[in-house]
Amino acid sequence: MSLVIQKFGGTSLATHESRERVVLRIEEARKKYDQVVVVVSAMGRLGAPYATDTLLSLLETDGRHVDDREMDMLIACGEIITTVVLSNALGSKGMKAQALTGGQSGIRTSSHFLEAHVDYVDTTRISNILAQGHIPVVAGFQGMDTQGDTTTLGRGGSDTSAALMGEALKADVIEIFTDVDGIMTADPIVCKTAKLINHISYNELFQMADGGAKVIHPRAVEVARRSGIPVMIKNTFSDAVGTTITHFNYIEKPITVNERIITSIAHRTGRIQFLVEGAIDDEVFFNDLAAQNVSIDIINIFPERRVFTTESINKNKTIKLIEAYDVSFSYIDNCCKITVVGEKMTGVPGVMAKIISSLSKVKVQILQTADSLSTIACLIHAKDLEVAVFALHETFGLHD
Ligand code: ADP
Ligand code: ASP
Ligand code: MG
Repeated sequence: MSLVIQKFGGTSLATHESRERVVLRIEEARKKYDQVVVVVSAMGRLGAPYATDTLLSLLETDGRHVDDREMDMLIACGEIITTVVLSNALGSKGMKAQALTGGQSGIRTSSHFLEAHVDYVDTTRISNILAQGHIPVVAGFQGMDTQGDTTTLGRGGSDTSAALMGEALKADVIEIFTDVDGIMTADPIVCKTAKLINHISYNELFQMADGGAKVIHPRAVEVARRSGIPVMIKNTFSDAVGTTITHFNYIEKPITVNERIITSIAHRTGRIQFLVEGAIDDEVFFNDLAAQNVSIDIINIFPERRVFTTESINKNKTIKLIEAYDVSFSYIDNCCKITVVGEKMTGVPGVMAKIISSLSKVKVQILQTADSLSTIACLIHAKDLEVAVFALHETFGLHD
C-alpha cells in the first residue's frame, strides 16, 4: 500500500479559492497513492480570523503572565478549525474525510506547553480511518499529554506533525505544500534573485532551517532524516517541480573555493547581543539563564568577558538577570544572524575570507561570528540584512 502525507501551510488554506486548490492537490494524490493523510496549519497569517497570531492577540494580558497550558488550548483551535473546514470541502467533492485533533490522531507529547516534545504516535485510529478508504485530516502543530491536555509543538510545528505522521505510518513520501516553489537559495522575500534548489540533503536543509529559513521547521527535517523518508517541498499554487530532500547531496562537481560549495543563505531576525564584563561564576550565570528559559546562541567566553545573543523577546528577562550580578554589561538591539550553509565547505580554505571581503565591500559590520562543519554565521545589524544577503548570494554564485 503506498501512502503519502500531504501538509498544507497557513497561506495555502487562507481563502476559499486557495482551499479549492488544496482539494485539487489531495485529489491528485488520491490518484497516485493508495492512501493519503492530510496535515493542516491554521488558516492564513496574522489578521486572518483563525491564524495562530490572531488567536494569540485575543489575550489582553496587561503584562500578566498567561498560563502556558491555556495558551496552548487557545492556539490549538486554529488548526482544529481548519481540519473541519477542509474535511467538509473534501466531502463536497465526494471524498470522504475525517477531521482529527492532534490528540485524536494519536500524537502523544510531554507536558512542556508551547514547546512540547512528541513521545510517540499511536496510529491505531488513523490506520482504521485509512482502512475504511477515508482521508484523515489531522490538526498539525499539536498533540496531547498524559493528562489529556492539549499541547503545541512550537511555532511552525505543523511540519513536525507531518514528519512524525510519515515516520509512524511508514509513508513513501512527505509532501509539504507552501506559498513558494520550494527551497530557495535564500528567502525570496529578502533576496529577489533567490533560485530554486531542486535537490538538497537533510543535513543541509536542517542547517538552513536551524539558521532561520522558516520554509520548514528544523525538527521536521530531523525526524525525516531519522526515518529516511523523502520530503518534497512544493508550491500549492504552481506546477513548479519543487525540492526533493533525501540523504544525498546532488552537487557532484569537484569542489574548490570557486565552485558551489555554498548552497544557501539563511537568516534569523529579532536577535539581541549581550556583552557582560567582570568576574562572574560562569557556571552559575549560564545556569541562571537556562533556568529562566533564555536560549542563547553565538556564545564566546573569555576570562573576564562573555558575549552571546538571544531572541529580542528575552531582553528584559536577561537584563534583570545580569543586574543581579556585580558586573558591567551592554547590549546591541535589532540584530540579525545570517548563516551561510554548505555541507561541502568543510576543510575548504577561504570561505570565511570571502564572507569578510563580501560584507566589507558593501560596508556591513560583522558583530560576531560562529561556525560549524557546514555553516558560518555572522551577526549583523538588522538594517543591513538585505544588502548582506544579496552580497553573499552573489559572492557565492547563487544568482546563476
Ligand atoms: P507555511 O504557512 O506554508 O508553513 P511559512 O511562512 O512557514 O509557510 O514558510 C514559507 C516561507 O518561508 C516563504 O514564504 C518564504 O518567505 C520563507 N523562506 C525563508 N527562507 C526560505 C528559503 N530558503 N526557501 C524558501 N522559502 C523560504
Ligand atoms: N499555525 C502554527 C504557527 O503559525 C503552526 C504552523 O503553521 O506550522 O506557528
Ligand atoms: Mg510554516
